[in-house]
Amino acid sequence: MKSERLKVFIVCNDCGERFTLRGKKDPKGELNTGFKRCLCDNENNFSVRTEELM
Ligand SMILES: [Zn+2]
Repeated sequence: MKSERLKVFIVCNDCGERFTLRGKKDPKGELNTGFKRCLCDNENNFSVRTEELM
């Protein structure tokens, strides 16, 4: 089973900071980026967009 490799764009809805990460979807479809929190300590309030890596 291959896991899906994604480019992940995260925008903090609290302070507007942007992050671009590489992520993977695990077999359960859960997005895994290793991203924990923003610089402003926000841990939950994000806009997340993903793009497939070729
Ligand atoms: Zn923030």
